Amino acid sequence: MNKDFNQVWQNCLAVIKDNVSLQSFKTWFDPIAPVKLANNVLTIQVPSQFFYEWLEEHYITLLRKTIKKELGTEGKLEYSIIMENGVNNPKPYTVRIPTTNRQALKNDPVAVPMDVNGEKGIRNPFIIPGLKKVKIDSQLNPNYSFESFIEGDCNRLARSAGYAVSKNPGGTAFNPLLIYGGVGLGKTHLVHSIGIEIKNNHPSKTVLYVSSEKFTHQFIDAVRNNNQNDFIHFYQMIDVLIIDDVQFFSGKEKTQDVFFHIFNHLHQTGKQLILTSDKAPVELQGMEQRLLSRFKWGLSADLQNPELETRIAILETKMYNEGLDLPKEVVEYLAYSITTNIRELEGALISLLAQSSLNKKAITLDLAKQMIDKFVKNTAREVSIDYIQKVVCDYFDLPIELLKSKTRKREVVQARQIAMYFAKKMTKSSLANIGMHCGGKDHATVLHACKTVNNLIDTDKRFRGYVSDLEKKISIQ
Ligand code: ADP
Ligand code: MG
Repeated sequence: MNKDFNQVWQNCLAVIKDNVSLQSFKTWFDPIAPVKLANNVLTIQVPSQFFYEWLEEHYITLLRKTIKKELGTEGKLEYSIIMENGVNNPKPYTVRIPTTNRQALKNDPVAVPMDVNGEKGIRNPFIIPGLKKVKIDSQLNPNYSFESFIEGDCNRLARSAGYAVSKNPGGTAFNPLLIYGGVGLGKTHLVHSIGIEIKNNHPSKTVLYVSSEKFTHQFIDAVRNNNQNDFIHFYQMIDVLIIDDVQFFSGKEKTQDVFFHIFNHLHQTGKQLILTSDKAPVELQGMEQRLLSRFKWGLSADLQNPELETRIAILETKMYNEGLDLPKEVVEYLAYSITTNIRELEGALISLLAQSSLNKKAITLDLAKQMIDKFVKNTAREVSIDYIQKVVCDYFDLPIELLKSKTRKREVVQARQIAMYFAKKMTKSSLANIGMHCGGKDHATVLHACKTVNNLIDTDKRFRGYVSDLEKKISIQ
């Protein structure tokens, strides 16, 4: 009995069509071409390794059933995979016939998603060409590891959620994990850390980091080249998808649409999604409601401005990693002066190093002050109350906790008054705020302190000396 392989396959397709969704059918079965039928073995050609694995994973039962129906119990299915470099890699249930003949699929409307060397299909830049098995370059930066990510109150929740996810991607309630916070607070660094840790813990998982812009551009290209399906397939096979800065999806309806579908697919199949955004989900404008509601399915954790100790620890780690040694007062000065943003903190450190090596000057507190003033954009020229307190306490050799406490010991009271005086003079803080920082005093106390200090400057020469010393130490040149 000599059945026609085309006919056999058409019959199989008819059954399959009734058993899968139209979308799945188009995606996974349309691109298959029957090749031959010999000795009850039907050979079908699939566009890629990934395709083959997908069929085996999701449709093997259905395929077996239909083959059995058409060819009897002896019937078998073989895959012929269009492989890069014709590499063969047999698996149970299937015998694969490597082929270099890509012509068969040339006119197929669904392009070849994973055929990296193929003449068509998106050449997704993340695919490492020339390997036996399709391998995705995760796009992770090894420097952004958990080891180099300093923990602090500002990032504790996000960090530990990320750590939990990296132990068990897709298996925690934190799916998606959305990390949000202002610029330079470590979102990108943290999601890279999670990705790296997942690769360490689960080497077989496919992890991909992509910025929302890159994702958008790839999608636009896919639309232009009429291979959106490739694009979707590609993203649907990722185990851990990290998308950075999703706020850039705002107002891009088509991109949101496709992302929505990819999101659903991955989420439903237990894959992990990790997203970052510069705003909390509720504040994201121009984002489809259904997408926003999905962002809230898992955990949203924010990164806050780093506290002083964290800023110092970050600077020290960076210096250690760079093999640098800076005077402690310089490190502290930087950490005290730049309070908002870790990127600027690093920028300041780098500018300082550049300055010192260009001008062959030692890195001193003076140089740091000049540099902060000239090179670091956006940083308040204003010193912080914390810094004033620190300098005053160092000067009088008092623990800063005492100054911030309510104690009325004479030497502390005077130092506290001086700190208040400088805070009033050199910052834009309100009297109430200054009071709050200095032992929880009210605005009247601060006002009184300023008067007292002014009086003493006029009447007490030694005291005047202290104040002018301190002023030099505190002021930014
Ligand atoms: P974002 O993506 O939130 O704008 P980044 O992740 O790019 O911020 O972080 C900016 C810089 O600050 C990076 O160089 C990063 O390594 C560093 N950084 C941020 N947070 C930390 C941290 N907790 N420990 C060490 N470095 C950090
Ligand atoms: Mg970032």
